[in-house]
Amino acid sequence: MSDFDNIKCFGHWRQPVESELTADFQSDWQAQLGGNGDTSGVSRMVLHYMALALNEAKKAFDKDEVPVGAVLVDNQTGKIIACAYNKTEHGLDPTAHAEIEVIKKGVKKLKTKRLWNTTLYVTLEPCTMCAAAISFARIERLVIGAKDEKGGAVLSGVKFFESKTCHHKPDITAGVLEKESAELLKTFFKTKRKNSSDI
Ligand SMILES: [Zn+2]
Repeated sequence: MSDFDNIKCFGHWRQPVESELTADFQSDWQAQLGGNGDTSGVSRMVLHYMALALNEAKKAFDKDEVPVGAVLVDNQTGKIIACAYNKTEHGLDPTAHAEIEVIKKGVKKLKTKRLWNTTLYVTLEPCTMCAAAISFARIERLVIGAKDEKGGAVLSGVKFFESKTCHHKPDITAGVLEKESAELLKTFFKTKRKNSSDI
C-alpha cells in the first residue's frame, strides 16, 4: 500500500453546504471528472476542488506549459480564494509554479502574508520550493493529486515537512484524482517528445 492509497477525508474541516457556495462551485463535478472519478474514501467537495485544480492544469496544458494546477480554498466558507496554473515558460520564471502563483494571488487578495485556515489543492506533489512556500504561508491543509517521485518534496525526495528546519506542516491528503492528474502530465510529455522527434 503506497502513501497515496491512504486517502484521508477532512477531519475538523467543515464541509460547506451547497447554499454557501456560489454558482461556480455548483457545477457538476461528476461532469468535470467525465464520470471516471474514483470517489472511494474522498469527500465530494475534496473531489470538486481538485477537479477545479485539474481544470487549471488543463489551461496550462493548452498554453504549452507543464500542466499543473492549484486552487486555494477558505476552510470556513468553502469559497475559492484563488486559482492558478504553472506559468514558468510564458513568464520566463522558474519560480512560477502553480502553488507559488496561487499563494501570491491569495495573499494579495486577502491582504495578509499568512494563509491560516486555507486548503491548497494541487494536481502534482509540490517541489521543495513550493513545500517551503506552503509552510511559510501557514497553509492549514494540502491536498495533492499525483505523486512526483522525480521532483516532489512532500512524500518523495527531501520530504520537506518532515525536516527539522520546517516550522509549519500542513495536514496532507494525497492521491485525489491522482490518475487524472498524472495522465494529463503523461500526455503532455508524450506530445512534447513526439514534437521534438518530428523536427
Ligand atoms: Zn514547485
